Amino acid sequence: MDFWTALKDAFGSQAVDLRDRLLTDGDYGRRSADSIRRIVVHHTAVDASRTWAAVAAYHVNGNNWPGIGYHLGIARDGVLSYLGDIETVRYHAGRANADSIGVCFAGNYMNDEPTAAMLATYARLVSVIEAHLGRQVTVVGHRDVGATACPGDRLYAALFSPREPLPGDEPSATAEKVRWWLEECTRQFEADNAERARAILYSLIALAYRLEQGGREKEEG
Ligand SMILES: [Zn+2]
Repeated sequence: MDFWTALKDAFGSQAVDLRDRLLTDGDYGRRSADSIRRIVVHHTAVDASRTWAAVAAYHVNGNNWPGIGYHLGIARDGVLSYLGDIETVRYHAGRANADSIGVCFAGNYMNDEPTAAMLATYARLVSVIEAHLGRQVTVVGHRDVGATACPGDRLYAALFSPREPLPGDEPSATAEKVRWWLEECTRQFEADNAERARAILYSLIALAYRLEQGGREKEEG
């Protein structure tokens, strides 16, 4: 199954294919899906109303790139846009470009919180990518592989604070982290910071999805 078909199956009308509808000037190099090892998360760092067409135009005209640097984009309402074929090596994370898929959240998350809809889309997208590749991938923020604030403090915290266990982590360590984050969630609710509490909850849901996926793969051998 090709990746766009997999996206359509998972997201229905919540996924749009913009691959042939954005400004380009030449072609990115191609790769096999076998070489994909990780997902790098970005934010656009501009107002969330900026269209993917405008982002593409900036990457082509401002940066002199062959096309938009990201492979996938997630809007505030959770709509997923397929921006550039995953079998192309695009410019989004410097030396991490060759083996990664660039997923970009529309908006600036230094101070704003990501919406529940976009975190839900993101969680499902990671599952779809892993199902498509037939293996797990590492998920990192742009700041983990480059000198940048991207994807913003709030988005980074929402996605990576209750992080997935690393190889070698004891299961009890994971349980301990989940317990701590649930308590943090309660503290945020009590401090009337519902947006932050909700973001923590959704990242825990994303973590649960990924743990379930990993457990199922182990059961299936
Ligand atoms: Zn970035």
